[in-house]
Amino acid sequence: MTLAHFLDGLRCASCGVLNVLWLDAMRGLVECSECGQIALTFPEVGEEVR
Ligand SMILES: [Zn+2]
Repeated sequence: MTLAHFLDGLRCASCGVLNVLWLDAMRGLVECSECGQIALTFPEVGEEVR
């Protein structure tokens, strides 16, 4: 029972790797599985990821 969803087509603003961000719906944040960068929920994600 996982609430994590990978976010296709999004690039990590920190390490620049594509398709490594996943949404932790439980905690309401987005984490990069590559560098561990954590971003807050969606309004910020739009700015973090280009
Ligand atoms: Zn990253």
